[in-house]
Amino acid sequence: MPQATYEGTVTVPLADLQPFPGNAKRGDVGTLLASLRRHGQYRSLVVQHVHPPAPEISTDSATHVDAPRRRLVVLAGNHTAQALNLHGAGDCGQPVQDDTGTRPCGVCGNNPAWELTARCELVICDEDTARRINLVDNRSSDLGSYDADALAELLSFLDNDYAGSGYQEADVTRLLAPPPSMEELVDSYRDPEDEDMWPVLRFTVPPEVRDHFYDLTADCLTPGDDTARFQHLLDRVAPTPLGDAV
Ligand SMILES: [Zn+2]
Repeated sequence: MPQATYEGTVTVPLADLQPFPGNAKRGDVGTLLASLRRHGQYRSLVVQHVHPPAPEISTDSATHVDAPRRRLVVLAGNHTAQALNLHGAGDCGQPVQDDTGTRPCGVCGNNPAWELTARCELVICDEDTARRINLVDNRSSDLGSYDADALAELLSFLDNDYAGSGYQEADVTRLLAPPPSMEELVDSYRDPEDEDMWPVLRFTVPPEVRDHFYDLTADCLTPGDDTARFQHLLDRVAPTPLGDAV
């Protein structure tokens, strides 16, 4: 498949953009909106520009056919587009506050006339390449990891103002905390009990078998506990002293 070809960077009304059909990633739209408000849209959406096919020349002037429209499909940045949509057009009434004072929202500038738009890098590519770009853009960020020391150092420069960074104070506290000692672990978690070493039965059944199981054990005294239900069933089939174990 040919590679994607960069066509240009344009600002596009959000209403003209199509989300990637079947995008599998579920992003954190709230964190993205907080970032957009604080920093503005620092990264363009990557959008597949599907040009309309050339119009067919018709000699039948009586037949009016709407010209096919271009399609703009968001390959990367679908959740940024959602966050902008969540912001909506016009003044959101939420200026940014930091230790230097108050400044306008990075999305709308607190301008009532702000129109719902996004800055987009348009690329031309075929459908297979579009799918692969959408997949790898989501996947590559999942596969990454962090150098915890470098992350802690970067966060230390924020002077406890984590708004729009995607981090909260509790995250940073956790990051900076030394690993717990054995004594702390024992204090936090009880000593293992015999029951923790018991085998776990886990199996898959058709829904009707599950329903049958629940019907047969409906008179169990602790119906919310499948272990008790299972024991209840065994007791009915063959009561044994082991039945007292649960
Ligand atoms: Zn705003």
